[in-house]
Amino acid sequence: MVTSLDDLPIRDDLRGRSPYGAPQKTVPVALNVNENSHPIPEDVAHDIVARVAAAILTLNRYPDREFTALRRALAGYLGHGLDPAQIWAANGSNEVLQQVLQAYGGPGRSVLGFAPTYSMYGLLASGTGTEWITAGRDDGFELSTATAVAAVHEHDPDIVMLCAPNNPTGTPVSIETIEAVADAARGIVVVDEAYFEFADPGTPSALTLLAGRPRLLVSRTMSKAFAFAGARVGYLAGDPAAIDALRLVRLPYHLSALTQAAALGALAHATEMLAMVDEIRVQRERISDELARLGFRPYRSGSNFVLFGGVADPRGVFEQLLERGILIREIGIPGHLRVTAGTEAETTAFLEAIAVSAPNRMTP
Ligand SMILES: *Cc1c(COP(=O)(O)O)cnc(C)c1O
Repeated sequence: MVTSLDDLPIRDDLRGRSPYGAPQKTVPVALNVNENSHPIPEDVAHDIVARVAAAILTLNRYPDREFTALRRALAGYLGHGLDPAQIWAANGSNEVLQQVLQAYGGPGRSVLGFAPTYSMYGLLASGTGTEWITAGRDDGFELSTATAVAAVHEHDPDIVMLCAPNNPTGTPVSIETIEAVADAARGIVVVDEAYFEFADPGTPSALTLLAGRPRLLVSRTMSKAFAFAGARVGYLAGDPAAIDALRLVRLPYHLSALTQAAALGALAHATEMLAMVDEIRVQRERISDELARLGFRPYRSGSNFVLFGGVADPRGVFEQLLERGILIREIGIPGHLRVTAGTEAETTAFLEAIAVSAPNRMTP
């Protein structure tokens, strides 16, 4: 017997909502969820396997609840003089962000984001009973200091989510804007730097703003540049007291011994794991240049993906590409599609296929 959601006593505020649902299809060229499409180097894989194998022999015991070695390794990777007490981690930065909302949001509180932005923010807000408020962006999905600060003053949120660079638009956010938002907001400001490693070399991280700002939190993930999406490891840097609050809401032993061992292995080979980042940036620029040449409108990107407009029939183009085994992303912005920069071969496959669809572009 199949029961429908409507027949179940679920929370009223969850009725009618849709879960996160990026299509998961087995295709030759998957460029839809911004993964690093280069496989993990084999020698690194062997080291990770050895570490996980050793951890398996300890699985009769609960793991280190404080993931001490992992916090130390993450602090070392981030640099900026960060201390392990300033680091937190969980099963993907989505879980980190959920814990932030559990600790600092909740019923009667609000979280502000700048739409279009990462779809999970709204879902995490609804899951934690936090009001999700969206403010607009400037032309071309840019976010100026004036626009961002005006929205903070207007809505006076308990939490601000700044996605820098922004997903799904790729838009970089200047360090001046981040600093101004951090100083204008009364509550917590989370800078989601999921794609930071893909920013142009020399781009300052919000980590440089942490000193003296105990309500500023900077989240990162191993899912994108680090080529570790399947392992589920995200992390955050902030004031030790701000991080202590997350211990009130996390489940005990939330990071398994296997996850901790695997993440430590990957971090021990950070340079090798990140070796393809420059190459991915090259492919991102190639996509932008070529899409512009074909008459589409690619937006400025500081990430490993490109949002492009000027698509008359996004659904049709999406389907045409899928028929050729290429999966990209419809992100719900009319006339737009998003594509991840993959390997050179994947990028070539995408560009050749989209060139066929080019007559599909809108006439200006
Ligand atoms: C992919 C992504 C994340 C990462 O999520 P994980 O749970 O760490 O895999 C976080 N924020 C944004 C904006 C993303 O696009």
